[in-house]
Amino acid sequence: MKRYSAFAIAREATRYHSGWERAWRAPEPKAKYDAIIIGAGGHGLATAYYLGKNFGITNVAIIEKGWLGGGNTGRNTTIIRSNYLQDPSAALYEKSRSLYETMSQDLNYNVMFSPRGVIMLAQTHHEVRGYQRTAHANALQGVPTEWISPQRVKELCPIINLEGPRYPVLGGLWQARGGTARHDAVAWGYARACSDMGMDVIQQCEVTNIRREGGKVVGVDTTKGAIDCDKLGIVVAGHSGDLANMSGFRLPLESVALQALVSEPIKPAMDVVIMANTVHGYLSQSDKGEMVIGGGTDGYNNYTQRGSFHHVEETVRALNETFPMLSRLKMLRQWGGIVDVTGDRSPILSKTPVDGVFINCGWGTGGFKAIPGSGWAMAELMAKGHSPLTDEFGMERFIEGRFIDESVAAGVAH
Ligand SMILES: Cc1cc2nc3c(=O)[nH]c(=O)nc-3n(C[C@H](O)[C@H](O)[C@H](O)COP(=O)(O)OP(=O)(O)OC[C@H]3O[C@@H](n4cnc5c(N)ncnc54)[C@H](O)[C@@H]3O)c2cc1C
Repeated sequence: MKRYSAFAIAREATRYHSGWERAWRAPEPKAKYDAIIIGAGGHGLATAYYLGKNFGITNVAIIEKGWLGGGNTGRNTTIIRSNYLQDPSAALYEKSRSLYETMSQDLNYNVMFSPRGVIMLAQTHHEVRGYQRTAHANALQGVPTEWISPQRVKELCPIINLEGPRYPVLGGLWQARGGTARHDAVAWGYARACSDMGMDVIQQCEVTNIRREGGKVVGVDTTKGAIDCDKLGIVVAGHSGDLANMSGFRLPLESVALQALVSEPIKPAMDVVIMANTVHGYLSQSDKGEMVIGGGTDGYNNYTQRGSFHHVEETVRALNETFPMLSRLKMLRQWGGIVDVTGDRSPILSKTPVDGVFINCGWGTGGFKAIPGSGWAMAELMAKGHSPLTDEFGMERFIEGRFIDESVAAGVAH
């Protein structure tokens, strides 16, 4: 694979850009792989990438029923942060955030990581206590975050209205090295690197059955035929329940639609990410100038990739009272994705009752930020049978009552 560089751009500029190669191959499936990953979202692609990079396992296929990055990875609002309450979460999300810092160099692909800072607003006394507690926990975990005053919030984001009609801003939890990245580029960068290592990214290929013999996985049936494998990673976000059913076990999670919308582009108006969880809306400005807006999940389980009108209305109302200047903007697009939510709002990275089958799911409304860390940990789990980063996130925790309660940090959409 030719490296992307300033020199490559200059070279191609002199020959009408005729020398660029395809970023990834479009292979037909082989009869057998050492490992198959189902789902070419960020988590699946990152898992495959670190299987190759960290463990030298490259006879790998990543099988995707649609197009790569077309699930939640290409639909989210790209917020990256690691200010979680519980120690296992902070370890995993901070590993991920730190991998984002060097991802563009590592993948030789510009993922536009922008550590512009994230503020989670406190608008009730309950939230003040919750975020102050998180700031103390983060200090002990070595994750730099800070509790800040309303005045500091206003300095960081002058367009905010501190005296909302329903809830005044009482302060905020500030993570200066949180931010955003270009979501498609994360998927494309990993796909290109996987393809370069000789892995097969197979798109438009749906897994319809998981074949087992004597309690062990032997392969999958797909719309492009049967493919054998020694190990299988299920990394399909909102469709995890379906794939678990195919494997003969059940998962403790629900699938619901989460939606987002963007406004028409405007001149630079804010250079931080703001989450207002009490009124429920969150906002950042894209490099194109659009205001990127996220809201809450639908109140009922569903597999639509649309989301409902009442949530658009509630989200826009929440943001209008927090940022009154938004009331004059036209909205350009709205879309939804299917997120997989667990009871403790923490993910599942786990072995399963089927020998050789591993599952990575339950990232709910907040898994974009976790993509590199999750891939790193899942690859270790699949290669070695355990990982210090995944030990606490096994699915047996729901039977044993060892919940990793992140409802303060993650019980909201982000
Ligand atoms: C509107 C919205 C806003 C969000 N905002 C944020 C945010 O700001 N910050 C954040 O951290 N997170 C956010 N998230 C959550 C984040 O997007 C997800 O947690 C993350 O992208 C999940 O990645 P994934 O790779 O697990 O899943 P996906 O990207 O959904 O990939 C799973 C893939 O599996 C494929 N698949 C499913 N079934 C099969 C099958 N049978 N055979 C083959 N392939 C199959 C799907 O087609 C899909 O491409 C948001 C989500 C949404 C929907």
